Amino acid sequence: MRTTVSLESAAPIVRRRLLRWYDRHRRELPWRGTPPDPYATLVSEFMLQQTQVKTVLPYFERFMRRFPTLRSLASASIDDILPFWAGLGYYRRCHHLHAAACAIVDRHRGRIPKDVEALRALPGVGAYTAGAIASIAFNIAVPAVDGNVCRVLSRLRGDDPKSAGSRPQNETLAARLVAPRRPGDFNQALMELGALICTPRSPDCSRCPLRALCPSRDRTAALPARRKAPLPKSPRTLHVVALAILRKEQTFLVRRPDRGLWAGLYMWPTAECLPHADRDTAALDLCRRLLPRAAAYPHHVGNVRHVLTHRTVRFDVYVVCVNIGARPTVTGRWRPLTSSGTDPPLSTAQRKLEAYLVSHASA
Ligand code: SF4
Repeated sequence: MRTTVSLESAAPIVRRRLLRWYDRHRRELPWRGTPPDPYATLVSEFMLQQTQVKTVLPYFERFMRRFPTLRSLASASIDDILPFWAGLGYYRRCHHLHAAACAIVDRHRGRIPKDVEALRALPGVGAYTAGAIASIAFNIAVPAVDGNVCRVLSRLRGDDPKSAGSRPQNETLAARLVAPRRPGDFNQALMELGALICTPRSPDCSRCPLRALCPSRDRTAALPARRKAPLPKSPRTLHVVALAILRKEQTFLVRRPDRGLWAGLYMWPTAECLPHADRDTAALDLCRRLLPRAAAYPHHVGNVRHVLTHRTVRFDVYVVCVNIGARPTVTGRWRPLTSSGTDPPLSTAQRKLEAYLVSHASA
């Protein structure tokens, strides 16, 4: 079995083969400019956290058209920015990106710092993101070990990517392998190899530029199978009633808090209830709380289910029609029921509710 020590001694060969492969096979992506734009690198790295390239692409392009510079992002309000993130998920990243842009303006006069420690001190920037920005945008020879890179390096060491202690070993190895002259390309090449060739379930070793050095080559069946994340003992289902207040062609939305699920996005007013609670009563309570003077009763129109990473949300959807003078007791925004715009921003779950309500209204 090839060890970390022998791989390190083969570092020049690893770099040469990997960079040659990357130069031929890299995907052309809008944030991979020549020379790289540090701001585009920052935005793309936030968007790519836990999200695939093909999902990020349209969001990145829209976002950069609207916020073409770091200062334009820092000077915008989070309510201006969230519509351009709506649907991408993990909304905390958007809040962090905005906070990081503001911190860069405050602490670094609007210039993204080149120093890894200064990068790590920014909101939402961990070791991987700091390494990626420093190496890609500023050509600093530091590693950037994400999930793809970790898997490739584990296999190159002949180890199980999921074994305890593999991450620190891979980080040490990455720091020793990183190409001193082209660190950003080297790190991206490792990421690209993990995304395109050395994939979790079926690595295509025949096309791998590092196959001659790899003890795991052509041992797909023997490679440690990707373990599924253990399911929670009882996957939690959140039961909520959602109330669509309709006033002429308009519907009423409330803003989520800046922390937690769907942070800062808009949604139809909801009330959480126990699994066996009477939904009609919960909807009526919610309606009376929001519209104490309204005589109308909400009626149930159906259910919408939305699956999140760790839980499922089951919406019981109710509609209540009110007259033009109705004023809910909470702050919110009226908007047309059918609106193709992104303002105010809705999560994917709320888009599902919207589609349901629209189909119900036109039925
Ligand atoms: S030879 Fe196969 S297992 Fe080894 S790094 Fe390349 S693709 Fe991965």
